[in-house]
Amino acid sequence: MGIRENVRAILKKLPEGIILEAAIKTKTTKEILEAIDAGIKIVGDNYAQEMENRYKEIGNKVKWHFIGHPQKNKVRKLVKFVSLIETIDSIKLAEEINKRCSALDKVMPVLVEVNSGKEIQKAGVFPENTEKLIIEISKLPHIKVLGLMTMGPRFGNPEDSRPYFIETKKVFEKIKTLKLPNIEMKYLSMGMTNSYKIAIEEGANIVRIGTLIFGERK
Ligand SMILES: *Cc1c(COP(=O)(O)O)cnc(C)c1O
Repeated sequence: MGIRENVRAILKKLPEGIILEAAIKTKTTKEILEAIDAGIKIVGDNYAQEMENRYKEIGNKVKWHFIGHPQKNKVRKLVKFVSLIETIDSIKLAEEINKRCSALDKVMPVLVEVNSGKEIQKAGVFPENTEKLIIEISKLPHIKVLGLMTMGPRFGNPEDSRPYFIETKKVFEKIKTLKLPNIEMKYLSMGMTNSYKIAIEEGANIVRIGTLIFGERK
């Protein structure tokens, strides 16, 4: 099957209210345009430079989400065209975004990335530290938290991901009950090609899918 058919097949089966984000890392402009043509409205990339290059060619016919870990010097360019940064995991990064958005007089919507597997080499804030980070970010006027994102550990069997999605959803709901000012717990971004069905069952409303749309990455 081609990219078009893949996108249509996923969209057809996706439950109401679930947002499909195409993960475009390593993909060409032509491939991305094909996915957009078939109904993709949001693309996500984890390489700032690659994303900027694609944006220059594709522009605003889709929304751009950043799902990687930007070096400080990339933030200034990213905040100009990205509509959601899904990977905030430190107050330092939040402050940098706040500063850059202040200069542009805009408010950047973000998700906080939870390291739900507590893997030391991985990005994200540990579940038990998430609330504290969000309270700190809530004080920054040019950044607004709209929810959480998690990767979870990689497994062959998608069922093994379930506890990490459950854990992230629990943190999401807890923070929601706090009704913090300047925080709106609206999006829960979890699940990739092999785990998105489980993620949806556990409360995800954004799924980030690469391989199932574009085929295996080389
Ligand atoms: C690559 C990537 C995805 C998509 O992964 P697939 O397994 O190809 O669907 C989702 N989220 C992030 C952060 C990624 O880097």
